[in-house]
Amino acid sequence: MTDRTDSQLLDEFNAICDCGGRLSGTPSEEAATALMARLGAAATGVEAARKAVPYTAWRADAASLVGPGGRSCDLQPLLRCGATPAGGIEAEVLDLGRGTPEAFEAHAGEIPGRIVMVRHELMFSADTIHRRVKIQRAIEAGAAGFLIVGPAPGMTVSGSASVAGAPTLPAAGISPETAAALCPTAGARPRVRLTIAVSERASTATNLLFDVPADDGCVVLSAHIDGHDPAESAIDNGSGLAVALEVARRAIARRSEWARGLRVAFFNVEEWALTGSEHYVAALSDAERAAIALNVNLDSVAGGASLTALTSGFAGIEPFLLDAAGSAGIPLGLHRPFQSNSDHANFARAGIPAFRLVAGFGDTGAAARYVLTARDTRSAVQPGELTRAARLSEAILMAALTAPADATAAWRRAETA
Ligand SMILES: [Zn+2]
Repeated sequence: MTDRTDSQLLDEFNAICDCGGRLSGTPSEEAATALMARLGAAATGVEAARKAVPYTAWRADAASLVGPGGRSCDLQPLLRCGATPAGGIEAEVLDLGRGTPEAFEAHAGEIPGRIVMVRHELMFSADTIHRRVKIQRAIEAGAAGFLIVGPAPGMTVSGSASVAGAPTLPAAGISPETAAALCPTAGARPRVRLTIAVSERASTATNLLFDVPADDGCVVLSAHIDGHDPAESAIDNGSGLAVALEVARRAIARRSEWARGLRVAFFNVEEWALTGSEHYVAALSDAERAAIALNVNLDSVAGGASLTALTSGFAGIEPFLLDAAGSAGIPLGLHRPFQSNSDHANFARAGIPAFRLVAGFGDTGAAARYVLTARDTRSAVQPGELTRAARLSEAILMAALTAPADATAAWRRAETA
């Protein structure tokens, strides 16, 4: 690897971060989509096919949280959360700690009419309980609202509160300091006023597809464009976008070795329950699905020292991935249980072998814990993490593009087969 490619990778990463947080439906996301169309065309040598993705755009128009004594608290409304009545809701806060199923069960009688408070968890770990699971339990138990406490001092947290059309609650991220001020002692039930005003409108986002065909089928290399408001969405997913561009460039320089084609896919509205990739996979015919040998999904590939493949139950791809990582001399962790935390999940659900490459999986000290907070900025990413992710991704992608057809058939073997 030369210095030139390293500096181009870093330059493109910075240019993506310069667009801002890239929340779907904002000028920041539109600028990033235009940038990725341009950079993707330069990297692949083909113009982007633009695929419209209809979705319901959501925006918080106003939000406030007022605690005892009129204390005004910081908060970040969760994406697609519900609105309160115009004057807000006044209710007691019930602290359920981490928000485990056991805690919801133990306090079931106290939840109706109260605002449930839980903790945000490290997203990239094996035993994480997803925020939407906790919100769902709060709804079922009759809560009036939902607060989720950020992972580090001074930080609120973002994330989506609901999938499209599903019931939801007024819901917001708050900082640990706010949580401690509201509930200074165990069992405290402070009365607060939570006000959230939202508006929704029918909108259209854009997926970008770059096809570099070869003889037989293709490998889909994907990364999502959109992000969250609070910062630069640098780890999630400026890192994946920049690495995808770099890896596409390197693979195309070795095109004469390919046995199948490459489709580079930059999906949109990923942070809204994987909408862009769901739309893409749903539009594929059975023959088109069968022609995709593998989805290599790069999402948050920097922000931690380790790299892990989330293999979605596709045991058949694991020996292949380990071989490719070994050839690059880069350790690769494997985590097999299906995780619906990025676009690879929609491929896997359709029976297409798919994995997500992620950095810092299970590492509680990694910068990856800042994802969805104001600290997901370029300074949370070490340049060496980007170059290492690019080297590993290149080895995997080239192995996938050159593998004989009988080898790729084995990739479709699932865990239970
Ligand atoms: Zn992501």
